[in-house]
Amino acid sequence: MSKVIVVGGGPSGIIAAIAAAEMGHAVEIYEKNEKLGKKLYITGKGRCNITNESDKDNFFEQLCSNKKFFYSSFNKFNNIDTINFFNNIGLKTKKERGNRIFPATNKSSDVISALNKQLKLLNVKIKYNTEVKSIFVEDNIVKGIKIMNETILSDSVIIATGGLSYPLTGSTGDGYKFAKEIGHRVTELNPSLVPIHVKEEYIKDLMGLSLKNININIFANNKKIYEEFGELIFTHFGLSGPVILSGSSYIVPYINKTNSIKIAIDLKPALTKEQLDNRILRDFDEVKNKDFKNSLDKLLPSKLIQPIVELSGINADKKVNEITKIERNNLVELLKNLTFTITKLADYNQAVITKGGINIKEINPSTMESKIIKNLYFVGEVLDLDALTGGYNLQIAWSTGHLAGSSIE
Ligand SMILES: Cc1cc2nc3c(=O)[nH]c(=O)nc-3n(C[C@H](O)[C@H](O)[C@H](O)COP(=O)(O)OP(=O)(O)OC[C@H]3O[C@@H](n4cnc5c(N)ncnc54)[C@H](O)[C@@H]3O)c2cc1C
Repeated sequence: MSKVIVVGGGPSGIIAAIAAAEMGHAVEIYEKNEKLGKKLYITGKGRCNITNESDKDNFFEQLCSNKKFFYSSFNKFNNIDTINFFNNIGLKTKKERGNRIFPATNKSSDVISALNKQLKLLNVKIKYNTEVKSIFVEDNIVKGIKIMNETILSDSVIIATGGLSYPLTGSTGDGYKFAKEIGHRVTELNPSLVPIHVKEEYIKDLMGLSLKNININIFANNKKIYEEFGELIFTHFGLSGPVILSGSSYIVPYINKTNSIKIAIDLKPALTKEQLDNRILRDFDEVKNKDFKNSLDKLLPSKLIQPIVELSGINADKKVNEITKIERNNLVELLKNLTFTITKLADYNQAVITKGGINIKEINPSTMESKIIKNLYFVGEVLDLDALTGGYNLQIAWSTGHLAGSSIE
């Protein structure tokens, strides 16, 4: 039996502690907050999308970086293992749209309670309100951690400090600092799965409008970098919602490096341009003598009508039966390609995850142990691993955490 210290009591640290304790080690978690899993509590809008039950190929399509590195940990503890694990510790789960797995009760607090119970059962010690200041290393072997005025010795240390997003939950990037201090490299860090800011001022007038069943295309210097169908929401500074958060992950490499990043929204993806034109003609036919500005109620949500009228270049007071074919074509083009210029991504306060992290070249993928410092492990979001929304990021935490905990000898 050896002594294991886990730095950080988020999902990756908790599962690592459980796995190490199951191997018979004496485990202590050091958590700077007054409780475990503050971020876990707010996941999935308080419902916690624990994992995703998609098959392996589909699962890996949703990973954004270093897929190959993740294979070993996923193979040792995959999405099905995660579901079984939670069911075995008394948490019933259910499957929703897109194979997303949630607790049957819809409460993230039940996920945390189940984990807490398991930690107690396995006699894992938890030091709350204790911020780790650095990692104690001698001759490239980890010896423990340093907190305020104290050095705590251990045989191994698992760093599970998370990233930089939602810093109020405790994830303030400490693990990156620790890693750099002991010779690890950290790749470029950026907020990801995050809303986007756009240049067009009129976006403010659309605030709160949610559009379902739309298609988006994102272009960097006119090259398409992302396409998705789904739902988005307008904010006072730009765009958010599922398709935007996912799209942001593909924008990260281009932001600040590319002159032009644009997003084009197809408001009517189910219709070809010709079908849309016919639809507009039918609508116009019913309101022949109305002004153009009063003719789009059936086609568009009310908040969108004024901006579309202005952008169409058609005189708002023109009678519908006087609108020319060319003007109608322009309107169709606009509805199929409502375009905004992306200026920046929102910051870490609104980012679901951090893109980038501990350079995976310096980590053994079969154990999560550092290749530089013996008996030191990195797990979860602190690593340069990230995925789209849908339960995939938590699975990264469960798989890497479990692998590290069960690899300690
Ligand atoms: C709003 C939101 C919703 C999300 N929803 C989902 C979802 O539904 N499904 C999904 O798969 N993913 C979701 N995610 C992402 C997911 O929460 C993260 O990927 C996951 O929490 C990462 O786990 P982690 O254990 O690596 O890090 P964290 O959860 O960030 O935990 C790190 C812990 O380490 C502690 N810590 C940090 N530094 C120190 C230190 N120096 N000393 C002591 N303790 C320290 C922190 O206080 C924290 O408790 C969501 C994220 C956000 C922000």
